[in-house]
Amino acid sequence: LVEIRDVHKTFGKVEVLKGVSLDVEEGEIVTIIGRSGSGKSTLLRCINALESVDSGEIRVEGERVHAKMPDLKKFRQRVGIVFQAFNLFPHLKVERNVTLAPLLTGRTDKARARALAEDVLARVGLADKIDAWPEQLSGGQQQRVAIARCLAMAPHLMLFDEVTSALDPELVGEVLKVMEAMAKQGMTMILVTHEMGFARNVANRIVFMHQGRVWEQGPPAKLFASPETPELASFIASAK
Ligand code: ATP
Ligand code: MG
Repeated sequence: LVEIRDVHKTFGKVEVLKGVSLDVEEGEIVTIIGRSGSGKSTLLRCINALESVDSGEIRVEGERVHAKMPDLKKFRQRVGIVFQAFNLFPHLKVERNVTLAPLLTGRTDKARARALAEDVLARVGLADKIDAWPEQLSGGQQQRVAIARCLAMAPHLMLFDEVTSALDPELVGEVLKVMEAMAKQGMTMILVTHEMGFARNVANRIVFMHQGRVWEQGPPAKLFASPETPELASFIASAK
């Protein structure tokens, strides 16, 4: 589903991605781990064409991704991204937050929008919050609405960038549970997380990024139990 080939990306004088290659199959859950500044967020943003790559290429469903692709909007509907900050529209109720994009793009019409909101909110366990304002929700609930908002576009791929990092510890679990359920339903997901338990239990594959490169990757059990590089070993030790 995703093919990344020798991607380089430089900001100013700093080369942030130094030849990243990575394939993600349909239905796969890939977790990216690594130290701050190793290029994890930049890679996710390149996959969603929020950043353009300097060289190399990224393909999603065979289509080459770049900032000037002709149907960028359509492309972003297929590739949902959720960030650390929930970015809900504060002046819109939960229902409208979730249905705005589907209404604007013609995925749904006014008559069916309510049912769509009910459906995706139920999937994140928030059916009862459809008429709430964002400010009435906890951080964990707001993040689940942000996930529901992506689901409303029926994406083929979901990208998550540290979606639980801004949450109080007691709210992390409910968001991870929603993501785990999506994984079980077969959604292809690439996520950056510091939640090593989640990475270990839910991911099919862990990718360890270090200094702008894919340093090591493999199934979670193997990677955590017997890292091949000292860099990964020390990262795991520090993440405990
Ligand atoms: P963290 O775990 O802290 O989120 P990360 O692995 O996601 O780190 P990136 O956000 O990808 O790291 O950043 C990698 C490097 O690129 C950092 O040194 C960062 O300062 C730099 N960088 C990222 N975005 C930009 C930008 N828009 N302009 C300039 N430099 C940037
Ligand atoms: Mg980041």
